Amino acid sequence: MSALEKALARIAPVVKEGEGSPIRKIKSLMEARPDMLSLAMGEANFPPPEELLDAAVRALRGGRNLYTSTNGIPAVREAVARFAARWWDADLDPERHVLMTVGGMEALHLAARILVSPGDRVLLPDPGWGMTRVVHERLGAELEFYPLRRDPAWSIDVDAILERLDPGVKVVAVNSPSNPTGAVLSREGWSRLLEATREMGVFVLSDEVYHNYAYSEPYTSSLAFGPPDNVVVVQSFSKTFAVTGWRLGYAVAHPDVLRQMATYKESISLCSFSVGQFALAEYLDHSDPYLAWANDLCRGNMERVVERLDGLPGVRCAMPEGGFYAFPDLSEIEPSCQLQTERLLTGGVAVVPGGFFGGEGVGCLRVGIAAPYEQIAPALDRFEERVVAWHQA
Ligand code: PMP
Repeated sequence: MSALEKALARIAPVVKEGEGSPIRKIKSLMEARPDMLSLAMGEANFPPPEELLDAAVRALRGGRNLYTSTNGIPAVREAVARFAARWWDADLDPERHVLMTVGGMEALHLAARILVSPGDRVLLPDPGWGMTRVVHERLGAELEFYPLRRDPAWSIDVDAILERLDPGVKVVAVNSPSNPTGAVLSREGWSRLLEATREMGVFVLSDEVYHNYAYSEPYTSSLAFGPPDNVVVVQSFSKTFAVTGWRLGYAVAHPDVLRQMATYKESISLCSFSVGQFALAEYLDHSDPYLAWANDLCRGNMERVVERLDGLPGVRCAMPEGGFYAFPDLSEIEPSCQLQTERLLTGGVAVVPGGFFGGEGVGCLRVGIAAPYEQIAPALDRFEERVVAWHQA
């Protein structure tokens, strides 16, 4: 054995490499097959706001290319607090409650790292975004799941959470609007959940990165119910302004939790994207017209896509309450969503198998709608062709 081989043999694997996200696998497959059309996208494929881009160019040219403080420049945290007051009826102290992060992803990592110790019980949604599960699993948490209610439209059933809640649970994760089902927690639902968790001393990890995409009723944030005492919010500009590549988001939390998160962040990323912070500090106050435009685009797409999918033989698809994805159920034709996905791939269209999001999602597929409809339509044509042929077989 060479010295290098010996050195490598001493590295204990920290992660199981085979468990990588199927979405990343689909991305590499798409690169290898340029003829493939995708409904697997997990991001906004529409243009970011011009005014934000202009502000970013000014920041870039104006020398805003150095480190910022770990928590983020005061101007952007103040703009976030004003945004949260305007949209969510939140009362935030930008100094004590807001930490700028490298996307919602870093906010999630930091929150989980500070809240969860090995063996702690964490309650997660099923179906739910796979990364929330993975992050907690890697920290050694005991994972427990609450089901979303499949009928009529995969809503977040607060009773299903409360039934599983006791003071021994450390954290309940909520994702509203949900990836992958679009479920949105109602104002009444939030109120009941926050009351119960406050009483029991349980933390709520609230992933609100799709906040701008609620379709059936006005969006309610967990921040509408007073200061973030037992709530840690994961937020992001990624989906809100179609800038996933900027890697800029924020966390909102109780000052004691936030200080821990900020100190931990120093050793991971030191600070968040400087140019983006300066640009958003300027732009956030003027963002309402864009937010309305993006919501309209996605709502319109969602209605058209759902109508088409639900009209296909053997497919059931309810109108989601929000989010970037339709979540059709194809189990009548083929119970295995892995097989469904493979057959659709053979037919030249990529989707994400619902089983990736948990056992409750088996039999369903995640279909992205956040792109101009002209881009989605040809992929839907292929989807339709494949499903009709398959149903007749
Ligand atoms: N939360 C959810 C539910 C998501 O779907 C994503 C991205 N797919 C994120 C957080 C993280 O997004 P970002 O790091 O780009 O803000």
